[in-house]
Amino acid sequence: MTNPLLPVFQPAPMVFDKGEGAWLTTAEGERYLDFGAGIAVNSLGYSHPHLVAALETQARKFWHLSNVYRIPDGERLAERLTAACFADVAFFANSGAEANECAIKIARRYQNASGRPERWRIITFNGAFHGRTLATMAAGGNPKYLDGFGPAVGGFDACPLEDINAVRARITLQTAAIMIEPIQGESGVRPVSHDFLRQLRALCDEFGLLLIYDEIQCGVGRTGYLFAHQEAGVAPDIMSLAKGLGGGFPVGACLATRAAAFGMVAGSHGSTFGGNPLAMAVGNAVLDIVDDEAFLTEVRRKGERLRAALEQIASFLPDLILEVRGRGLMLGIRTAREPREIVEALRAHAQVLTIAAGDNVVRIVPPLTVSDEEIDLFADRVRHALEQISKRAA
Ligand code: PLP
Repeated sequence: MTNPLLPVFQPAPMVFDKGEGAWLTTAEGERYLDFGAGIAVNSLGYSHPHLVAALETQARKFWHLSNVYRIPDGERLAERLTAACFADVAFFANSGAEANECAIKIARRYQNASGRPERWRIITFNGAFHGRTLATMAAGGNPKYLDGFGPAVGGFDACPLEDINAVRARITLQTAAIMIEPIQGESGVRPVSHDFLRQLRALCDEFGLLLIYDEIQCGVGRTGYLFAHQEAGVAPDIMSLAKGLGGGFPVGACLATRAAAFGMVAGSHGSTFGGNPLAMAVGNAVLDIVDDEAFLTEVRRKGERLRAALEQIASFLPDLILEVRGRGLMLGIRTAREPREIVEALRAHAQVLTIAAGDNVVRIVPPLTVSDEEIDLFADRVRHALEQISKRAA
């Protein structure tokens, strides 16, 4: 039978039947240790009892309620998210790309409502990934994704990372904002230096621009800080979240200061499903666990353990692993091979799941609840599989 799905994905052959914690099991009972976590989405692993209970409880009340009515869980989630960071207000969406669309609209609207309608362009960065809608694809600027879809949505000016003079030179009278992932994910787990974030903040303040962080992949505890930028102590004006916020339930959020969002009024933006009661119930349940200093400290400790194990493997196999990078439990190994080849070998020969990224990087983003034993088992299996690959190549 030919597959009736639009062939935009190339899924691995096995079919999973259930998941628990960091483990996925096929119907035949084959178990895989999942250090990809749905691409940094299943922040608390599969079937976390607290999340299942929150979803089940809400499912028995109602699933959907239009935004024409108040959704108290959404107000509560917004209050908790904003209390934990720079922001004052939140908009809920269904995905990362939608959260970024909202961020872009807030920034453009801010300048417009401030009497500067000519400022609508946004400075972005090479290697960025902001989503697959027409605007977020243009913001990412990756020719591979833009190709064949007609003229790219205008208004995005890409700069090299870590080059503040290039950014300064790119600012014009039309610039509204600067948008950056504090750790680039898709293009290969590249942390941006704290210094660069500080310099961007200063430029934004100097020129009256808004600073937008895309924390869709690196946010919600992934780095051992509730939000990745909090490690640097450099706040943005707008921030997008998704992935880990729903622990596997689709949800996105765009947070902003009241000052940045002052142009957004009734009717400026909206979404039928955004902020729906199921997503809000699960989002609150995720925060019950992740927004906790002891939990975040554990994420940092486990991140160090995993990094140390990967660095040890790299020291044994310097021809195969060129670098270990990332922060907290958002790590990557840069390899001398096509990362897809490594990901497939790890899956087929070691029953461990990882995710290929750009720059020949294999992304390692386990659930934040991963145990020390699972980290050690992962490292053992990866070392063994990579040794085999390295021997075959020799
Ligand atoms: N921004 C970043 C940093 C991402 O990693 C992603 C997804 O990988 C997105 C935006 C897009 O999110 P979504 O696929 O939920 O639209």
